[in-house]
Amino acid sequence: MANKRAFEIAFVGLKPGVHEFNYELDDKFFIEKGAEDFANAKADVKLSLEKNTGFMLLKFEVGGKADVSCDRCGNSLTMDLWDEFKLVVKLVDNPDEMNLNEEDPDVFYISRTESHLEVSDWLYEFVLLSVPTQKMCGEDERGGSKCNKEVLEKLRQMEVKEEHNANTLWKGLDKFKEN
Ligand SMILES: [Zn+2]
Repeated sequence: MANKRAFEIAFVGLKPGVHEFNYELDDKFFIEKGAEDFANAKADVKLSLEKNTGFMLLKFEVGGKADVSCDRCGNSLTMDLWDEFKLVVKLVDNPDEMNLNEEDPDVFYISRTESHLEVSDWLYEFVLLSVPTQKMCGEDERGGSKCNKEVLEKLRQMEVKEEHNANTLWKGLDKFKEN
């Protein structure tokens, strides 16, 4: 992020109508913003901004790829990023108060005196939301799980042990009741 202003849109100077902005975001951008479990990211976001009197409609179209960890075994997985988000930005006199009371997450208020729109936080948030919620290694040609078998075996052993401990605890309690 050499140029911080790269994420500021000077909307005051824009004519009414739709304007398009393209952002290419790499690892550096996400690391600076504190992303975890999100490596080798290469995200493209197309932002369409429709300028109207008193409000703007923003549409973020996310594409690209990033590496995340499998939910089951922790293996690194490359995931396609693909999603779309819409936002309404309204120009008002009291944006802080309005933002506090607004329950719709897709509506955001800025001051009427504002001239720039800072979009980096939205870019960050929407790209992270574009990661599929199910992060799994998937299956090989024969329908077997491609998860790391060693890790799964370790997890299984830990579960068996926990179950065993829980059983012993219950037995102990039963004894206690009988007495
Ligand atoms: Zn896995």
